[in-house]
Formats: sequence, C-alpha cells, structure tokens
Amino acid sequence: MRTIDDLGDLKGKKVLLRSDLNVPLDGRTITDDGRIRASVPTIEKLTGQGAQVIVCAHLGRPKGAPEEKYSLAPVAQRLGELLGKPVAFASDTVGESAKEKVAALQDGEVVLLENLRFNPGETSKDDAERSAFARELASLADVFVSDGFGVVHRAQASVYDIAQLLPHAAGGLVQAEVEVLKRLTDEPQRPYAVVLGGAKVSDKLGVIENLLKTADQLVIGGGMVFTFLAAQGHEVGKSLLEKDQIDTVKGYLDEAKAKGVEIVLPTDIVAATEFSADADHEVVAADAIPADRMGLDIGPESGKAFAEVVRAAKTVFWNGPMGAFEMEPYAAGTKAVAEAVAEATKQGALTVIGGGDSAAAVRQLGFADDDFTHISTGGGASLEYLEGKELPGLEVLDN
Ligand code: ADP
Ligand code: MG
Repeated sequence: MRTIDDLGDLKGKKVLLRSDLNVPLDGRTITDDGRIRASVPTIEKLTGQGAQVIVCAHLGRPKGAPEEKYSLAPVAQRLGELLGKPVAFASDTVGESAKEKVAALQDGEVVLLENLRFNPGETSKDDAERSAFARELASLADVFVSDGFGVVHRAQASVYDIAQLLPHAAGGLVQAEVEVLKRLTDEPQRPYAVVLGGAKVSDKLGVIENLLKTADQLVIGGGMVFTFLAAQGHEVGKSLLEKDQIDTVKGYLDEAKAKGVEIVLPTDIVAATEFSADADHEVVAADAIPADRMGLDIGPESGKAFAEVVRAAKTVFWNGPMGAFEMEPYAAGTKAVAEAVAEATKQGALTVIGGGDSAAAVRQLGFADDDFTHISTGGGASLEYLEGKELPGLEVLDN
C-alpha cells in the first residue's frame, strides 16, 4: 500500500483527502467526535508538509441532494477546534463555493467540502455517473489520499473511482487500521476471543463463518443472541429475532462443535416489558424468557462469564454492544465486557473494538481510548476485512 511518504514533496500541492467524519449528531450537536479526532493526525501530517488540504467526507444518508440536517458545517467547526486553526467550509462539494475556497487555499491550510452524498454521483451504482462525479472532485486537486477507513469497503466515487484519476496513497489512519486487522488475521496470539453483539445478526453472519476458522471462542450477546437462543429451541418472547436466520445459526453451532470453537452464550438475560428505560425489568434464565418480555441486556452471571473468557485471552476482537446500553438499566453487560477488555489490554493482549456504536458505548461508559489497543473507526469495513472479502477502497490503492 502506497503511503503519504511515497507521494513526494507535497509543499504547495493540493491534496484531496477522503476522511471519515460520519459522527453521530443530536440535532446540530456532535455527540461523539471520535472519528474527527481519528482524522486529525493525517491532516496535520499533510499541513505540516505545506500541502493545501481539501477534506471531503459524508455524513448520514442523504438521498443525493442537499439536506440541512446532514450538513458538515458543525464538523468543520469541531475540526477547526481540534486542529487549533480555522477550517474553511465550502457550502457545496464541487460547485462554485468549493472552487472558490480551494483556489483561496494557502500552504498548510484546510478546507472541508460539503457532504459528498449531496451529489447522486457519490454512491451511484452507475459507473459512468460515479466516475463523472469523481472527475469533478479530481479537478480540484493534484493528489488523492484515502483515509476514510469506515468507507473503504464501498466502491464509491470519493473512495474508489477517484484513485483511478489521481496519484494516490493511503493515509495514516487507513494504514494503522489495516495493520491491526492484519495482526488479527495472520496468526493471532491465542487464546483468541471474539465478542459479537449489536442489533443485526444478518449483518454479522458472514464474519461468524470466517471467524469459526480462526477464533478459539465466540462470545455472543446483544440483540443477535436471541437468534442463537431460538436456534437452541428456546422461547425468546418479544426479543429481537431474525427467524429467517435460525437455520443458518444452527449450522454455525454444529460447525463450531466440529471445529472445537467454543460458543459462549448468556445463561441469564435482563428481560423488560418494553424497549424503554422505565419499563419493568427483571433477570431471567436465558432459556426461560417470558413470552411477554424482551431481552435488552445479558444478565449479571453472563457478564461475569463473558469477562472471564475475555480476561484470559491474548487477542480480543469485539464488535457490537451486549445490550441496549444507551439506556442505563441495560448497560451493565456492555460495561462488564469493556472492563474485562481493558484488563486484558493491561496484561498485554491485543484488543480491538470495531463498530460505531461499540466505540460510542465504551466512551459513554467512561473508558479511555488507551484502555484498548485500537478502536476501529470502521465497523462494517473491519467486519468485511475479517470476513476475508476484498475491500475495493484498499484494492484500488495498490494499482
Ligand atoms: P456497532 O455499531 O458497534 O456495529 P450495531 O450497530 O450492530 O453495533 O448495534 C448497536 C445497537 O444494538 C445499539 O444501539 C444497541 O442499543 C442495540 N442492541 C444491543 N442489544 C440489544 C438488544 N438486546 N435489543 C435491542 N437492541 C439491542
Ligand atoms: Mg451501528
């Protein structure tokens, strides 16, 4: 993978930098700026070399047209605070404002372009439409640096097509992310425990299949666990359940047995009458969830058991919270696992957290970034990497 150092002297060069600034917002307020902070070192490296840096990024899922609530304006503000200098903001991506702001850039200065996804070409399935938009982006700059790890699994204009038009390199964040993922896949230190949770099993099934080949333990919690409990023939009440995945999960349970991979499931569950912090809730056995309740967290006994597995591991990958952690009564399971992962880190294990909500969860629970070896900025991208898929945004950097 080509790096920034391979691009030669960047002084006075216009560098188009694809970053991942897709932060959670509450109205106009950024609730977790982790992705902005993770983007800063690469920007500083470029400005330090006297480059004129044009940052482009997306926010949320606008439908190919401007929508005020998805404007990157608050992100430009926060980025400026973190860089300790003003960041110019273009009110469009490749239009008049962008051209004007880019032309005005001095060496070492930064401009952020408006949301890439306000343009239908960014995510278009039509190659011609996508590359037309990529050509407009390319006309703004001399070189391209790909640092939005959270999007490298997408063949989008600002990720994939653009690299075919400009001299290109991977930024420091993409490099760091890939290095860590390599350590998880190339002969990981054992025991290797993988903890999976979160909301959707179907998103994470592909990776389970591949992890059965490499992990020693697969610890399952979160909303996806109920499909596993159902596959074992248990009643799961009103809990999240993907009925059409039950047979696949049964297959995984058999395969795990055959391969000697230990699947660790919860033995107790916090079951509530509804999806609400105020709902009546109680701890029940995992095989006895009442029909009129939904599981919103793993129970305390399971938290202890999960923590024990994690503490004994030399390599840990964790994706997906153990419960609906945003609500205080259902955060304990995620906290128990996070504490154990932090302890494993202290004992020298390689610990990686992937997934936007998982990263937000550990920060919300008061953990520091250095309680873990690495917090990935790309949940989907890291899962696809571990799934063994080719990531178009990385492949294209090799050419
Ligand atoms: P990540 O972004 O880390 O990959 P996901 O997006 O897959 O994680 O899932 C995160 C969401 O899963 C959180 O919003 C959390 O509230 C939800 N969740 C976790 N456990 C449950 C559960 N038992 N029932 C419903 N939602 C859950
Ligand atoms: Mg998520």
